Amino acid sequence: MTEEKTDVLVIGSGIGGMCAAAYLAHKGYQVLVTEALPRIGGHCSTIEYKGIKVANGVIGPGLGGPLEALFREVGAEYNVRPAGIPHYLVNGKMMELPVKGGTRALLKAATDDHDDVEKVLKAFSAGMRENPPDTMSMKAWLLQYTQNQSILNVFQTMAAATAIVSIDRISAKGFFLFLKQHQGFREWGVCPEGSIALPSSLTKVVENNRGEVWTNAPAVRIHVDEGAAKGVTISRNGKEVKVAASIVISNCGPKRTVDLVGRENLPREYLTELEKLIPASAISIHIKSKVPLLDYDTMLVVGARRVVAIFQLTSVCPELAPPGTHYIVVGADPVSELGPEQAKEEIDICMEDLKELIPKFQTHGEILMTGCFHGDWPAMFSIAGQSMSPKTPIKKLYAVGDGFIAEPGMTAMVGAAGSGVAAAKDAVAELRL
Ligand SMILES: Cc1cc2nc3c(=O)[nH]c(=O)nc-3n(C[C@H](O)[C@H](O)[C@H](O)COP(=O)(O)OP(=O)(O)OC[C@H]3O[C@@H](n4cnc5c(N)ncnc54)[C@H](O)[C@@H]3O)c2cc1C
Repeated sequence: MTEEKTDVLVIGSGIGGMCAAAYLAHKGYQVLVTEALPRIGGHCSTIEYKGIKVANGVIGPGLGGPLEALFREVGAEYNVRPAGIPHYLVNGKMMELPVKGGTRALLKAATDDHDDVEKVLKAFSAGMRENPPDTMSMKAWLLQYTQNQSILNVFQTMAAATAIVSIDRISAKGFFLFLKQHQGFREWGVCPEGSIALPSSLTKVVENNRGEVWTNAPAVRIHVDEGAAKGVTISRNGKEVKVAASIVISNCGPKRTVDLVGRENLPREYLTELEKLIPASAISIHIKSKVPLLDYDTMLVVGARRVVAIFQLTSVCPELAPPGTHYIVVGADPVSELGPEQAKEEIDICMEDLKELIPKFQTHGEILMTGCFHGDWPAMFSIAGQSMSPKTPIKKLYAVGDGFIAEPGMTAMVGAAGSGVAAAKDAVAELRL
């Protein structure tokens, strides 16, 4: 077995792992990132297919938030082109969301039941001020004020399209924390080179600072001795390489991290907490068309069976497809935990939605691929409002990514990036000792 040495070893090149890696490399530490797949980025990646840069996960990174700030701090390019204001399709009527009073406008478009709208809005303002208990789902919280299905549908789209979770899975507290954390950076955009451009730009920071990013190189074991991580064995080019590291940062998700460490090395309470994490499921459908399928770049949908958002990404970044070709991504929220059988059924229901929502879909749309994120490879390892700390019970081992959110209410790529930075800052303090 070959033996090597580095200051910091990062397992997984998802956005959380790459943010940690770039932060530490920028601070002058030697960093090695090891990625199991042939391409970097995890759920923030891009697959070239039929000439189109297909989004493998992240569709619209936020603008002006903590993620962009981190890129600036480490000198990485954040090439995200602003998208337009999202349009909402509410009960078949199209509307543009006003800059202020968006929730009121949506509820009014959804129903004529003014009493219930006012009741819910009053409770909503109170919910934003004082956090409701996290023992209640957002749906159960809403049902205290209304039984109106159209009102519930508005909140379902808000949750599913922005936080990748349905209102019956996210706690009311988690939903309000999410809204509070994210309302300051509501703008989003599209990467002209595909979302993989973001981890690629962090890779440059690592490589320009003595570091390396390996692909096709799965970590097979995290070595623990006397309660501290000492290094990682990696399978690379058919051989095992043992890399000693002062700090190990795992970005490969809770279950894989436990497998790499060995359950016997972790306290039972920690394993129990990890098992409580609720993963997020999602469906994405990728379509190409020779004619535009939407008149806007983004359409959020209230009241469909599964589909909650449709993005015509080439309206923002025509570079994503050959000239004259339009690339559209559909996001849907499956109702239940998905197994292989349910996944197919759920995609069929999404297709029914699409036929009704986009009349030109049947005549002009060509399905490129469908993605069903669940089980061992969920859309996120944890929904918003839950928090496992990036710190682990093993010394010199951190776990980062969307299952290990450092700040309550953060989620998805911003949450994953935040956990990477939080772990990296703690690692700097440890490396200085
Ligand atoms: C369809 C879809 C659309 C989304 N859209 C958005 C969006 O628009 N905005 C947003 O903010 N979020 C979005 N998300 C969520 C976002 O993609 C994730 O929250 C985020 O990218 C997760 O990053 P992460 O750091 O947790 O790492 P992950 O993406 O989970 O990456 C983990 C990495 O670890 C690697 N790995 C696993 N095992 C090993 C091993 N043994 N050795 C080495 N490497 C290993 C994996 O191959 C992978 O590359 C979307 C998700 C989906 C599914």
